[in-house]
Amino acid sequence: MTTLANLDQKTDTGRSGVPFFYRLRCFISLVLGLRRHDFRSAAKFIAVEYGHLPFLSRHWQFLKWSLRQLWVVIPEAMPMLTVAPRVSHTPFWLDEPNPLENHPWQLKPESQLPNSVHTVVIGAGFTGAAAAYHWSKRAGSDQQLVVLEMNEAASAASGRNQGTIVMGRYFTMVRGTVEPYLAKVRSDLSSTQRRCLAEQFADVYCKAAYRNADLIEKAIGDEGFDVDYARKGWVQERRADQQEDLAESVSDAARTGNDDWISIDPESVYRESGMRVETPAGFSARAGTWHPAKWVWSLLTVALKSENVSLFTRTKVTSVEQQVDHYLIHTSRGLIRTQNVLYAVESFLPKLDSRFHNVIEPHQEQLATGTGTPEVMPCNNSITGKFFFGGRRDETLFIGSDSTRVPDHLAGCNKPCRFLTKFALSEYKRVYGPFAWRLTHEWSGTVGYTPDEYPLIGRLDDQGKYMIGGMAGSGSGVAFNAARCIVNRILEQISEPDDYPESFFGPTRILDPTAHHWPDQDESRVLHTHGEPLSGEVPTS
Ligand SMILES: Cc1cc2nc3c(=O)[nH]c(=O)nc-3n(C[C@H](O)[C@H](O)[C@H](O)COP(=O)(O)OP(=O)(O)OC[C@H]3O[C@@H](n4cnc5c(N)ncnc54)[C@H](O)[C@@H]3O)c2cc1C
Repeated sequence: MTTLANLDQKTDTGRSGVPFFYRLRCFISLVLGLRRHDFRSAAKFIAVEYGHLPFLSRHWQFLKWSLRQLWVVIPEAMPMLTVAPRVSHTPFWLDEPNPLENHPWQLKPESQLPNSVHTVVIGAGFTGAAAAYHWSKRAGSDQQLVVLEMNEAASAASGRNQGTIVMGRYFTMVRGTVEPYLAKVRSDLSSTQRRCLAEQFADVYCKAAYRNADLIEKAIGDEGFDVDYARKGWVQERRADQQEDLAESVSDAARTGNDDWISIDPESVYRESGMRVETPAGFSARAGTWHPAKWVWSLLTVALKSENVSLFTRTKVTSVEQQVDHYLIHTSRGLIRTQNVLYAVESFLPKLDSRFHNVIEPHQEQLATGTGTPEVMPCNNSITGKFFFGGRRDETLFIGSDSTRVPDHLAGCNKPCRFLTKFALSEYKRVYGPFAWRLTHEWSGTVGYTPDEYPLIGRLDDQGKYMIGGMAGSGSGVAFNAARCIVNRILEQISEPDDYPESFFGPTRILDPTAHHWPDQDESRVLHTHGEPLSGEVPTS
């Protein structure tokens, strides 16, 4: 029998001790277990890993890589895995009782939707719950806000994520996604000017995310939320061929003052995460962890104590109809008239409004949890490897992977792939060595990506329609502060800083780039960054 004990024993050939027939059985079961989504993920993998190669060699490289995974790497990790007789598709967090289940119908079946309100929020995840919370702290008692949720609060991505509170994406990562988009829509600018503009975007995004993290910590402290909050950082593995990029990103972070992102040596990586690596890793030092569903429920519970907020779950918005000076919100339970509406539906937006096809792209990510962890792995940490992400909460290990676009109609679907769980487990083995893990939960969810992977936060018309979306899998780093800013705009409260200016985050940036009011160029940044004057630059168009 193949056991953990002999897993790392090398045979004469240098292979680990997995017998031939065991390997064959794993291979067959992996191949037979492949699902349609695995092929979508494979296509994305080829594009990301081998996209720079000509067509044939790209596929040849992938074939070699995948055969090695199927025959060598994954089978050698399989003795670590036992599978519970019934693997639950309910996200780990949602095993916890939801205090707002079927609200308000559970306790008050006779409840009715109001006819008319000041503002409607569609969606009760991180974003909708944050909007309700900020509203309850700022609006007058005659300014009614209603949250409409088609399922349960935190039932979509907000209750299906890993529970890492991110400090947003780091500066160089943001610049790296915005700059290629600018090349498409701002060809009137020189490449230096576009680099400068992309840096302005990155700087504004990071500063807003840092305030977001501070605001979260403050709310948890002020309200005494019991959300299992801890702040132990997030280690991100970087291999030898990524070291140059890591050094550049750390130096950019220091240069621009977005200095949460640092590099740590392999010894510190081991201390922070237990991972054994040979090269320095990136480290988001102030990232944290929490119970994401409890965060949503806690925000809503506080908001519902105020007279001006109500929540209706199991109430689907079917369309939003614009009238001369108000909107009619059509729902599965009737009609509501409102002056303002906030879309807080993230990857579901194209289903609700087809204009958002190719503007907010649903991407599927998946997670599995189980009992058993590498002994050296500290609790409440978060890690990312090249092809996986994860973390440990008490005796539960999270194993996640994937971020692949799915068709709009699959937003919110829960269809995890076992192949991806096995693949991510083998990646864990690579950095932790063998350990025993019993799979109990496995689920997937969708997040929203814009083409430049930069969120859209702002007004959708000149009346009262707003959105927050396209947070690219970093909702905990954006939603709380973004909701504060939108609530302030709706209530015309201007005393607090607005971290999401329209010129950077306004939806026209993607919906209509030629009409978008782009931010003014900060030329001093170009001179400072590159030490060259702009005058000699020639636009690329
Ligand atoms: C596997 C996975 C791991 C992740 N890990 C992390 C992580 O560690 N850290 C992090 O920051 N982010 C993570 N994310 C991303 C994060 O979960 C999202 O960015 C965040 O939850 C988005 O919050 P939201 O409220 O905008 O959207 P959602 O949580 O998707 O909420 C939208 C809500 O709108 C409702 N809705 C949709 N359409 C309608 C309609 N027509 N009528 C009424 N209601 C409607 C939905 O039912 C849903 O409840 C992860 C995501 C996944 C899937």
